[in-house]
Amino acid sequence: MPARSSGPSAAPVADHPRARSDRPDQAASLATSASIAASLSDDVRSLYDTKLKDLFVHFHQNPELSFKEDKTAKRLGDELEALGYTMHRGIGGTGLVALLENGPGPTVMFRADMDGLPVEEKSGLPYASEATQLDWDGNRVPVMHACGHDVHITSLVGTAKLMADRKEQWSGTLMLLGQPAEERVAGARVMMEDGLWDRVGQPDFAMAFHVTSALPTGSIAAPPTAAYSGADTVDIMIKGIGAHGASPHTGVDPIVLGSQIVMGLQTVVSRNLAPRRPGVITVGSFHSGTKHNIISDAAKLQLTVRSESPEDRQLLLEGIERVQWRLNSNSVFTVPPKFKNEGFSFLAKFKISCKRFDVLGSEV
Ligand SMILES: [Zn+2]
Repeated sequence: MPARSSGPSAAPVADHPRARSDRPDQAASLATSASIAASLSDDVRSLYDTKLKDLFVHFHQNPELSFKEDKTAKRLGDELEALGYTMHRGIGGTGLVALLENGPGPTVMFRADMDGLPVEEKSGLPYASEATQLDWDGNRVPVMHACGHDVHITSLVGTAKLMADRKEQWSGTLMLLGQPAEERVAGARVMMEDGLWDRVGQPDFAMAFHVTSALPTGSIAAPPTAAYSGADTVDIMIKGIGAHGASPHTGVDPIVLGSQIVMGLQTVVSRNLAPRRPGVITVGSFHSGTKHNIISDAAKLQLTVRSESPEDRQLLLEGIERVQWRLNSNSVFTVPPKFKNEGFSFLAKFKISCKRFDVLGSEV
C-alpha cells in the first residue's frame, strides 16, 4: 500500500489547513495554540484520572519480556480498536499499527515500545509488579517495566483518544505503532522485515519518546540532534593455555591478556575520537577462571559501544579490532572478535520550532 500522504506540508494541530486560505499572523497562531494547549492540558488531566491511571497500573503489573508481549499487544490493540482505529496486528510477532484517517494531509507516526525487563521490582509501591515469565532460555525470571514502556503505551492510548476526539483540529492520517522488543534492540528491525511499510504505508513524520528520570515531572525535552546514541555490542574471546597458578611460565594467562585489552580499549575513545565528539566503549563483562590457583584457558569480554555518527562508529569498532588484535596476538589461538551490530541506528535528526513546542508541550 502506498503512503497516504498528499505531501510533506505538515498541517499544524493548531490551525486547520482546509479552514483557511491566508495564513494567520504568528501572534494569532500562537494565541490559538495557547488556547488549544490549555484545553488539551485539561483533557489530559481528566483522561488520566478517569482512564489512563488504571490502564497504566494494569500495564505496570503485567509486564512481558521482549517478543513475548502477547497480552500487552492484545490489550493495547483492543484499546485502540475500541477508539475507532483500523488495526494491523501481528507485524513482526507482537507489533501492531493503528490508523486513523482524517482527510488530506501527511501521515504522522507515534511509536511506543511495549516490552518489560527481567528485573525484580523492589520499589515497595502498592502496585509493584510481581510478574514472572519464562525467558528465552527457559528460566523463570521476574519481570518489571523498569524502563517505563508502560508509560509509553499508556500515553499512546491517551494520544489515540485525544486525537480521535479532536478530529476537527487536524487533518491527515495518524499512525500509532506498538513496537516489540526495544530492550533487545531488535523489534523495529523485525517489524521492518515483516513488511511494515508495505502493509500500512510509510509515514511522512515519525516521533517516539522515552520517559527519563533526569528531567522534572511534567516537562518535555526535544534535543535538536539525535536524542540517543547508536549502540553496538562486541564479544572478545581470549584463548590462553591453562596451567597451575604456581607455574605461570608453562601457560598463557588469558586474564593478563584480557586486562591488557581492557586497558588498551581505554585509549580508543580518548586518543582516537575527536575531543568534542561523544563516544563510549564500556567493558561490561569480564569472565574467566574458576579457582585461586588455576590459570584458565579462556576469558571472555563483553562490550557495549555507543556512537553518534556512522564515521565515529566505524572509528570505534576499528579501534577495538586493532587493540584486540595487537594484544591478543600474544594468545596462542587468536579468535576474531564477534561484532553484533544488531541494534545500530541513528535517530533521525529533527528540527522543531522551539516556540511552537513550548506552547504546545508545556504542562501536557
Ligand atoms: Zn526503554
